[in-house]
Amino acid sequence: MRAAVVTSFTEPLQLQDRPVPTPGPGQVLVRIETSGLCHTDIHAAHGDWPVKPSPPFVPGHEGVGIVEATGPGVTAHEVGDRVALPWLGHACGHCDHCVSGWETLCVRQQNTGYSIDGSFADYAVADANYAVRVPDGVDPLDAAPLTCAGVTTYKAVKVAHIRPAEKVAIFGIGGLGHLALQYAHLVGGEVIAVDVSDEKLGLARDLGADHTVNAATEDPVSAIEALGGADVAIVLAVIPSVFEQAFASLRRGGRLVCVGLPPEQDGPMKLPLFPTVLKGISVIGSIVGTRQDLAEVFDLHALGRTRVIAETRSLEDVNSAIDEVLEGRAPARLVFEM
Ligand code: ZN
Ligand code: ZN
Repeated sequence: MRAAVVTSFTEPLQLQDRPVPTPGPGQVLVRIETSGLCHTDIHAAHGDWPVKPSPPFVPGHEGVGIVEATGPGVTAHEVGDRVALPWLGHACGHCDHCVSGWETLCVRQQNTGYSIDGSFADYAVADANYAVRVPDGVDPLDAAPLTCAGVTTYKAVKVAHIRPAEKVAIFGIGGLGHLALQYAHLVGGEVIAVDVSDEKLGLARDLGADHTVNAATEDPVSAIEALGGADVAIVLAVIPSVFEQAFASLRRGGRLVCVGLPPEQDGPMKLPLFPTVLKGISVIGSIVGTRQDLAEVFDLHALGRTRVIAETRSLEDVNSAIDEVLEGRAPARLVFEM
């Protein structure tokens, strides 16, 4: 089978011919149909984050495909089922986080395309209990971006506890942002989309944004203040200064939801304590979502409540696809079609 492999943090990915893996106890073998390219895959390939993966490894945590074989003891899925392989590839299942619906915080978790081989390949094996069924009403091309970009932003909207008519600013309209604004809209938010590309802001308007702000041509903080300030700011960009702008755009009682993960060398965001205290600001970190969150994301999509904007690429073009994302030339999401 073909697999796109990270052999070193400083080299392009290598397309290798590898044997099809055999599912062990509790695992399924999945023939991958589609796999989205997430910014996290690029950070993984470059070793950008404090906890690094160990090359050689196969990235990809938006894999969608068909179960072709099951290992001993699998009860969650059957051969022929379509499943998604998300970032949360495995958790312990019995710690306080796991049993209280916060499996995404499990300290013993394994991550697809990072600590275990992911879906930039024709086949992948996965823990059957953490593979999520894709309903028939969801196209595999749409299911791939929903598996990370969708569930991550859906969860960010959930933890922000948005009430109808609250103003919600989304910083960064790309693979994540174009879905974030739809979820914010679904829960009744008045949505302000912030980006530096007029094309992406046009897309945001098509998808339901009530206001758009081009941060390349106007100061987003004063533009949002002019709208009355944001009750919630969700930051999907990977630049620390954008988090600071988002913080400054909040009104009293506001919530800053941090999702984007800048490279470690770009440094921390500055959090001014005086306004945090006086304005009663909450700062919330939000990481992906649970299996239940992903099932809800798929259900909403099957109901026709969300639109996924994506273009396909072939796995052979993995390195040029990465360049497209890094240079901001990609449409909302790129998806490898196997
Ligand atoms: Zn991701
Ligand atoms: Zn656990």
